[in-house]
Amino acid sequence: MSAVILVHGGAGLMRTLEGARLQAYRDGLAESARAGRAALEQGAGAVEAVLAAVRCMEASGVFNAGAGSCLDEEGHATLDAALMRGRDRAAGAVGACAATLHPTDVARDLMEEGRHVLLVGEGADRRARRLGLPPLPPPTVERYEAWARLSGRHITRPEDLTTTGQAEDQAEDQAEDQAEDQAEDQAEDQVAGRDPEGDTVGAVALDAQGRLAAAVSTGGLWLKARGRVGDSALPGAGCYACDDLGAAASATGVGERMIRAVTCKLACDIAQREGAAAAARRAVDDLERRFGVDSGGLIVVDRLGRIGATFNTHGMGRALARPGQAEVVVAVWPEDPFPTG
Ligand code: ASP
Repeated sequence: MSAVILVHGGAGLMRTLEGARLQAYRDGLAESARAGRAALEQGAGAVEAVLAAVRCMEASGVFNAGAGSCLDEEGHATLDAALMRGRDRAAGAVGACAATLHPTDVARDLMEEGRHVLLVGEGADRRARRLGLPPLPPPTVERYEAWARLSGRHITRPEDLTTTGQAEDQAEDQAEDQAEDQAEDQAEDQVAGRDPEGDTVGAVALDAQGRLAAAVSTGGLWLKARGRVGDSALPGAGCYACDDLGAAASATGVGERMIRAVTCKLACDIAQREGAAAAARRAVDDLERRFGVDSGGLIVVDRLGRIGATFNTHGMGRALARPGQAEVVVAVWPEDPFPTG
């Protein structure tokens, strides 16, 4: 057995991921894996390691999670996240949370409290505020521009939607009809996994005591319906960890597909018999058989510290680090060398 932290930074077409943005993305992945490794080296358990790694990516603004979250159809960021501890299958999760850039810390509080697994919307927001977590910063101008481009609305801030007077109402109705048509086209793009910057984040870890944990955190899908909650809020779909099965998994991709396939639980079941690499591969095969290519990907670690990272999209950012080893392996595209098994 060898302790390990493995992170992902989302799967998708990543058509805007080049140049400086690609470098920032790779740096963010490496930094996250280093944060998880530092936690393990300081004697923290797997739960602390995955939290350290995910927190780092939530704060960076580079990923579609925390500070960098995408915007829904009304121009708001609402976040989903989940955390699971393998030792006792304790879990915490939040859906459509808008009050903090660290929804995984709310998930952690729920997991430790043990009363409920999942809080959504206002309940999750209230819990975040009660915990004194850092607020979610307003979306950057760049995010609003991406939203305006994707939604077909020629504004830069959602507040600009508010107009008065009949003529303006009519003009607004027309604009909304057009926007809806375009939004439908965009939604189709996203269901096919062709989101412009689909960078959900996640982490799995095995600690020196042989304990496993998994976490995932996301802004969800661009232009998602108001109130939509995806796989990242659902243990079993977006992440799963179970020491008895000897595996932890964290997913990214079209959440509606992961929910229906219960992807991360499936991967852990497979890992118990066949190890992490086969688990990741077969869970993606399952998605592809049911829903086609561009569904997403996942990372898996098993009780022996073996890893798997597979996706059926154009790319998936991933990074690996082991306590006591200086190297951090970062990969984005399928051809990038990355250890498996
Ligand atoms: N799985 C996330 C969701 O559907 C999105 C992603 O991984 O890019 O909310």
